[in-house]
Amino acid sequence: MCTVILLRGVVRGLPLVLAMNRDEFLDRPSAGPRLWPGSPPLVAPVDLRSGGTWCGLSASGLLVAVTNRGPERDAGKRSRGSLVVDLLQGGRAEAGKRLAAEGYAGQFNGFHALVADAAKAFLAEFDDAGLRLAEIDAPVTILTNGGPTPDIRQLLNEVDEKGTGTWPETEAWLAALLRRHDLPTCRHLDDRGTRSSIVFALPGGGTLGGKLLFADGPPCTTPYVDQSVLVEALRGPKWTA
Ligand SMILES: [Zn+2]
Repeated sequence: MCTVILLRGVVRGLPLVLAMNRDEFLDRPSAGPRLWPGSPPLVAPVDLRSGGTWCGLSASGLLVAVTNRGPERDAGKRSRGSLVVDLLQGGRAEAGKRLAAEGYAGQFNGFHALVADAAKAFLAEFDDAGLRLAEIDAPVTILTNGGPTPDIRQLLNEVDEKGTGTWPETEAWLAALLRRHDLPTCRHLDDRGTRSSIVFALPGGGTLGGKLLFADGPPCTTPYVDQSVLVEALRGPKWTA
């Protein structure tokens, strides 16, 4: 189970924050965030088995995170990792249109897709019952592979109580939250568990001054490394017309 936390308008100066613990099989290879050249260029970690990703940022300031919804029932379908890359190709509205297009969501096994920019955010859920798109109004959204559980409610309460203030405070608080075993956001099972943790924090209206932290292992034992230079690189002269 993955855990995604979206904070909108909660942190002073950084109104869009997306944090994600990625839970995966221990033997599935991956690599940390990198710049994906293209139009638009993206910053995202890499799932080395499928070539896709689980969470990324585009140069336009769009963030997308995807979690599984239910098991992989049909191995012949497209990897859900490529869904993130598809949705980051345009703006938020284009992502919504793409998801709603006839036959698109059915190319994948069940998923949740969280799509957010500085202005708005929405959640897409796809399963046997079809696709549901819902705009997100709440300042705090928690997403896992399943529906709300008591753990998630407790998590929400913690965010409501402590998740406000300036970035240094929020950064420390978020990192502490993401490495917890009691909620549990950091998980350790026999053959799977939390493999990495990523945090994007963006100012309104773009990526200038945006922050990226990445822990290339379970955050309970792996320190977060500041990789904001990758967000900065999205604005490089090479990418701006
Ligand atoms: Zn842990």
